[in-house]
Amino acid sequence: MGRIRILSDQVANKIAAGEVVERPASVVKELLENSLDAGSTTIRVEAVSGGRRLIRITDDGCGMLRDDAMLAFERHSTSKLTDVKDLLSIATLGFRGEALPSIASVSRLTLETRSRDESTGTRIEIAGGKMMACQEAALASGTIITVRDLFFNVPARKKFLRSETTELAHIATLATEYSLAHPDKNFTLIHDEKELLAVTPAADLRDRIYQVFGGQLLEELIPLAPVERALPPEPGSDSPAGTLQLTGFVSRPQFQKSNRNSIHLFVNGRVIRDRLLLHALNSAYYNLVPSGVYPFAMLFLSCDYEEVDVNVHPSKTEVRFRHGPVVHDFVRDAVRNSLIAAKPAPSLPSSRVSQPAAHLPYSEFSQQIEEQRFESVPAPAPDSELPVFNLHGATPAVPRLDFGQTPGIPGEPVRFSAPPPAPPPASPQLKLRIPESHSALPPDAAYVPGASLSELANLRPLGQIHDSFIVAAGRDGLWLIDQHVAHERILFEKVLRGRAEGKIEVQALLMPMIIELTPAQMADYNRIAAELNATGFETEPFGPRSIAIKAAPSAVPPGEIDKLVFEILEIADAELRGVSLEDLRRGIAASVACRAAIKINTPLDERKMAWLLEELAATQCPMSCPHGRPIALLYSTRDILKGFHRV
Ligand code: ADP
Ligand code: MG
Repeated sequence: MGRIRILSDQVANKIAAGEVVERPASVVKELLENSLDAGSTTIRVEAVSGGRRLIRITDDGCGMLRDDAMLAFERHSTSKLTDVKDLLSIATLGFRGEALPSIASVSRLTLETRSRDESTGTRIEIAGGKMMACQEAALASGTIITVRDLFFNVPARKKFLRSETTELAHIATLATEYSLAHPDKNFTLIHDEKELLAVTPAADLRDRIYQVFGGQLLEELIPLAPVERALPPEPGSDSPAGTLQLTGFVSRPQFQKSNRNSIHLFVNGRVIRDRLLLHALNSAYYNLVPSGVYPFAMLFLSCDYEEVDVNVHPSKTEVRFRHGPVVHDFVRDAVRNSLIAAKPAPSLPSSRVSQPAAHLPYSEFSQQIEEQRFESVPAPAPDSELPVFNLHGATPAVPRLDFGQTPGIPGEPVRFSAPPPAPPPASPQLKLRIPESHSALPPDAAYVPGASLSELANLRPLGQIHDSFIVAAGRDGLWLIDQHVAHERILFEKVLRGRAEGKIEVQALLMPMIIELTPAQMADYNRIAAELNATGFETEPFGPRSIAIKAAPSAVPPGEIDKLVFEILEIADAELRGVSLEDLRRGIAASVACRAAIKINTPLDERKMAWLLEELAATQCPMSCPHGRPIALLYSTRDILKGFHRV
């Protein structure tokens, strides 16, 4: 008996209505999701001309019985749902029963499928929604769906397609994202007969990231410590309504992107775009990166199926959480805590090898190809890949996802066989013995990958450059610390702590300072006066257009107090529109810290330098100043050795 049924009107009417097929990538998305729902372990995606001429997905999943294959093209026919109740807890990627009929109505589609339970398969051809042929066919078990000439019968829609490279970029991003969501499966993406992605089962997400993006990106990433939180119980019940879990990777604060293309979000294995999660991620990086820049992130959130409504949008890319605020804070805290625990050290910019497109995250590559014309590059001879440089031979010379020698031009395919072994664990030994001869490092001299700013506590200050930057020696190499932003971070956290505990050191002014304000500033002042006064100021209105400042946080030099108040009023003006009190509080703390911090061009003696490093080491986030600039740069021992040609 067949598995597919037509949904009753009652259920069908509850399904988010709308167009499923907007562009080639929407076809790829629906077909990929069907293949995953069918339990496939090997999925191959082929496209020709950005998917306009042809899209073909081949899988080794459960296949369809003959009767089901016919039924699958009816609207609202699905094997994944039966009644309205099922809509409340959807465990499969598909559930609408609309993808196949929608795609078939705007293309020439061929379905070839065989269920493991039948000895022969079925081939069905449909053009513009009309069944042209249906035959028995000798086929391997699994499903192949070929979609040719998308929108051949809907010229209006065809006109709206973007360039081939743009359409390909969308397809590539999707295939990449699903390959990340399923590290245990084989994925191949072929465009115009060139293999753009080919990954075999990897041990875990880390290895899959290595396969797809390369080791250089991996060095920029911090794994999230796996976390779990119980959801609040239902009213009238004591037991929690399930749990939230988050895993994944986020980039260290200095790895900055100018857009959100490098943020990959997954909820229960589904690729989604979600404002709530994006906001949570941004909040986690608040005061760690400058505003307007974004991290690289891969977040996998899991929760009970009832907790998330996926029936919100026809293409199923948006979701709605039942406990939105809880999910938001959970994700924000999980990411933030992982960043705080790792305290990743930024390396000196010059020590970064310039990265060709081959080593950039896929989405960035996607962006580049949007702007460039596709050209074919000459194929390198087989096995001509040069070994990738590496210090300890720990990582095999596995080529990365490679798009050719020239940035932005897709090149030759690269095939991945085995996942790379894990990098060597951090060496517990504090002192690295540099070999005297010009040989490779002994194996026990493993450098610590992703050095941590926790090392700041163990540095030996050597002096200053230009009375502005502290030079210090440490186990991991040579450190440069920007004394102003270092102090800024220390004071910023101190002010916030003091504000939270109601204990801020205050200096009373001998004479109240009267400052005149514009009417707009006066209005801003009235809105934030309470917060200002809770942060160590004592101010009050003095006539209709001026205020009197009677006291200020003691860290602020008296000459700077009025400037500081004006600056805070500016933050209030810019930030009060739609920004939380929490953000305003941080804004005030950042301004106070900036005014009070040791300036650059200030000589410091050794004691002061040591004090500064110690205090910085004790902060939660020594990675960035409150405005998102790096505080300490590391010239790693590895780079020093490389510079002296000792490795
Ligand atoms: P939905 O995925 O929402 O159920 P679709 O129109 O995408 O709706 O697919 C209809 C049905 O066809 C699915 O429920 C499934 O039973 C079957 N199907 C589609 N693609 C495949 C596939 N690759 N392998 C096995 N069965 C499939
Ligand atoms: Mg589907």
